[in-house]
Amino acid sequence: MRTRGLTKAFRGLVALKDHAIELREREIMGVIGPNGSGKSTFFNLITGFSKPNAGQIEFRGRSIIGLRTERIVSLGIARTFQGSRLFPSLTVEDNVLAAAQLRHPVGPLDSVLRTARYRTRVDKAEAIAERLLDLMGLTAQAGRLASQLPYGDQRRLEIARALATEPALLLLDEPAAGLDSNETTALVELIRKIRDLFGVTVVVVEHDMDLIMAVCERIQVLATGEVICVGTPEQVRNDPRVREAYLGHA
Ligand code: ADP
Ligand code: MG
Repeated sequence: MRTRGLTKAFRGLVALKDHAIELREREIMGVIGPNGSGKSTFFNLITGFSKPNAGQIEFRGRSIIGLRTERIVSLGIARTFQGSRLFPSLTVEDNVLAAAQLRHPVGPLDSVLRTARYRTRVDKAEAIAERLLDLMGLTAQAGRLASQLPYGDQRRLEIARALATEPALLLLDEPAAGLDSNETTALVELIRKIRDLFGVTVVVVEHDMDLIMAVCERIQVLATGEVICVGTPEQVRNDPRVREAYLGHA
């Protein structure tokens, strides 16, 4: 996936300005920046939830700007959301099954059911769901309502649901938010395992540095919608511009 000149403004406010990124196959890339620096906007643009004012987004050699969210999922891009978007009235298992079968970006269940084109055979969807629940340690919870899961389990269920659409690119929006330090350490292992098992490219956005520093091979730093530096965790940690951006928003 590659962006160039990607720009999004909301009325007068420029949320993302002239953004450029080029992902390598199977890498774990981090994007950090304080709250309001444009991280979720970046994901919304890539996944078709929002349209850019300018710029390009290429995925596997083709432009994906203007494509519907559902089409973007079918091309192989899946995401999680900053706020939970599970289907609360469905069981854990049915949340993953629905994603595997419908291959639909998340929205209100009734509109998903209305607009989804069923693409995956039931037996295949069941096999995908079973494998993902096992990977996420959610098999014992399969029959519970999603809304009744502990918070940490809900976050893993969201990742399972994104993976159920069999993406080549997985976008995680603040996956460590609200997790304690043990859960965050487990998440580092889980993200690596996901990349190794499924061969996906992963982009993690966070405002908190800990997860990103621990799991990402390369990091891009955003401040008020602009890229201020790109590098390894070590390079980013030692970059005076990063310190300044973070201290300025402390
Ligand atoms: P982050 O995810 O890094 O916290 P966002 O991408 O959510 O930041 O937001 C970047 C900026 O764009 C913020 O100032 C935010 O208030 C603004 N913004 C985001 N979405 C909208 C929207 N739909 N309407 C108006 N302003 C928005
Ligand atoms: Mg955000």
